[in-house]
Amino acid sequence: MNFILLGPPGSGKGTQAKNIVKKFNVSSLSTGEIFRNIKKQNNSIKKLISTGRLVPDRIVIDILFDCFKKNKYFESGFVLDGFPRTISQAKGLNVLLNLKHIKVDVVFFLDVNSNEVIKRILKRMICSCGLSYNIMSYNVGNRYNYCICGKKLKKRDDDKEKVIKERLCIYEKFTKPLIEYYKKFGILVYIDGSRDEMCVFKQINSYVKKRNFY
Ligand code: ADP
Ligand code: ZN
Repeated sequence: MNFILLGPPGSGKGTQAKNIVKKFNVSSLSTGEIFRNIKKQNNSIKKLISTGRLVPDRIVIDILFDCFKKNKYFESGFVLDGFPRTISQAKGLNVLLNLKHIKVDVVFFLDVNSNEVIKRILKRMICSCGLSYNIMSYNVGNRYNYCICGKKLKKRDDDKEKVIKERLCIYEKFTKPLIEYYKKFGILVYIDGSRDEMCVFKQINSYVKKRNFY
């Protein structure tokens, strides 16, 4: 089964992608994680991310094709987190999937309003192992500001208020049109992303069960 997670920054795409992987045994692809790794050696990508702008479509689509070549997404099924983010990326994905006669089964749109996502992102701390915490759980469970893996938690450089506002503007302009785009394909499913993590996953899980995908 093949999933896409769509939603504003901070809507919980990464968290739900992990839940989906655990439950349904699919492979995940997070373009955000890929670019956070690439930016360590690439100053122009670093600059784009830290100012909240998008990496150009051409680069993103090249990386996507490359990832699909190297990994077993086609065999295992996949969940895409942070991709596509523009209509032209969605078209690039279609080209790739059509070549292999594969389709996306469902696009979950995690709906969270912008006040809530700003609050969440300002509380977010991350670890280089990929886990992320919000300050509440992180104060309680991680007295020394360390991840359960042992590494020190840090703030993402694009998780500052000014940059978050820019990311939200870009989301409205370039990513939100994907909601209508996937509605037309009849595969968009609305999820109330403002609830807590397990509650959001329950909605995802019950949709998958209802459709008898598993
Ligand atoms: P969030 O969903 O919290 O905004 P991500 O971790 O998905 O963050 O992405 C972080 C940054 O990486 C984005 O703001 C953007 O600069 C870059 N990025 C990630 N995915 C894409 C994409 N599909 N197209 C263009 N840029 C991307
Ligand atoms: Zn860690």
